[in-house]
Amino acid sequence: MSASRHPALLATDPELASFVAAEEVLQAQTLRLIPSENYVSAAVLEASGTVLQNKYSEGYPGRRYYEGQQNIDRVEALAVERAKGLFGVDHVNVQPYSGSPANLAVYLAFAKPGDTVMGMALPMGGHLTHGWGVSATGSWFRGVQYGVRADTGLIDYDAVRDLALAERPKLIFCGGTALPRTIDFAAFAEIAREAGSILVADVAHIAGLIAGGAHPSPADHVDVISTTTHKTLRGPRGAMLMCREEHAKAIDKAVFPGLQGGPHNQTTAGIAVALHEAAQPSFVSYAHAVVANAKALAAALLQKGFDLVSGGTDNHLILIDLTGKDVPGKIAAKALDRAGIVVNYNTVPFDPRKPFDPSGVRIGTPSLTSRGLSTEHMPLVADWISRAVDAAAKGDEQALAAIRAEVTDLMAAFPAPGLPLA
Ligand SMILES: *Cc1c(COP(=O)(O)O)cnc(C)c1O
Repeated sequence: MSASRHPALLATDPELASFVAAEEVLQAQTLRLIPSENYVSAAVLEASGTVLQNKYSEGYPGRRYYEGQQNIDRVEALAVERAKGLFGVDHVNVQPYSGSPANLAVYLAFAKPGDTVMGMALPMGGHLTHGWGVSATGSWFRGVQYGVRADTGLIDYDAVRDLALAERPKLIFCGGTALPRTIDFAAFAEIAREAGSILVADVAHIAGLIAGGAHPSPADHVDVISTTTHKTLRGPRGAMLMCREEHAKAIDKAVFPGLQGGPHNQTTAGIAVALHEAAQPSFVSYAHAVVANAKALAAALLQKGFDLVSGGTDNHLILIDLTGKDVPGKIAAKALDRAGIVVNYNTVPFDPRKPFDPSGVRIGTPSLTSRGLSTEHMPLVADWISRAVDAAAKGDEQALAAIRAEVTDLMAAFPAPGLPLA
């Protein structure tokens, strides 16, 4: 049925078309709780699949190495203008292919191989690209890491300051992938100033919350803002680097020609559309609803007896610590998947288990909010999670199947753009 949504694809490559159709059904029927995922609008989907795909555009608007840029320049300039307005920054580069290459461009702009860089440790909630060992950023640069306090689960700003003053890193990254609490950009800025470091706010996860006024903005505090465009911001898979005018040249040179060739113009178009959507009043409501849903879900999970890292959430993300339960994160995550609830297993700070088999499950509310679920549904979601984790402990597949039927039933009432009715 849904394969006919892409008739040319179906005719040319029915095998591939069947995979896409199956993914459409999966996304329609499941409760997607991965905090870095979302549902883009139909307009963003359309913009990302246009003939802009066919064009090479090395360079920047008005300064390209290929001709025929009359329309492409307008697309990119529009995306840049919209990002400047939305985030209140002097300069924006919309060309990075994704979040990881965007961060690598920041290293290229400000540091030399072997320089010391500082970020949050991956197991504490940081990102690989903030100088963690297995990442190129951790092997080409000397990464030093901060974390959270064992007693509160919150960033220890005194320890951050001590480490920064002892190490004097070229770059300090703030932000991460598993941080359920508000980041104090002003505190980081003070530390970076004292240490003489360039401060980078990597807001990949929370860019949509910042755009919608549901998280403080780093714009007045940091040297560079790095973000993906496909998480809470609800655009196509891509990234942006934003900075004050003084760093504009260094950032642009690092992205092209430093690291990349031609920009993905179809993605730039999708980013422009997403930024337009993010400037509407409805996006402000969405951003606040994401946070309200996460707080309601956290409260309901606490009532069900779950431990949450830092005791709750200020944003879109919740880190469930299963250390006290009979089920580790991976087994819980796989059981939840069979129950139609899609999450990822994750380390928790000071995890006694190994990263490939950790103690936590990471969840978030952007996707369910985009589908229109509200705080009144969160006790039911918490109940499903609780029943599924209990079922995982007992190996009760029937209970998981029963939850899956309930999930599919509810999701059918909340259609998402680009998907068949569940
Ligand atoms: C997702 C994320 C990235 C990387 O983005 P990719 O597009 O997956 O490369 C970088 N930093 C943070 C904090 C992220 O959450």
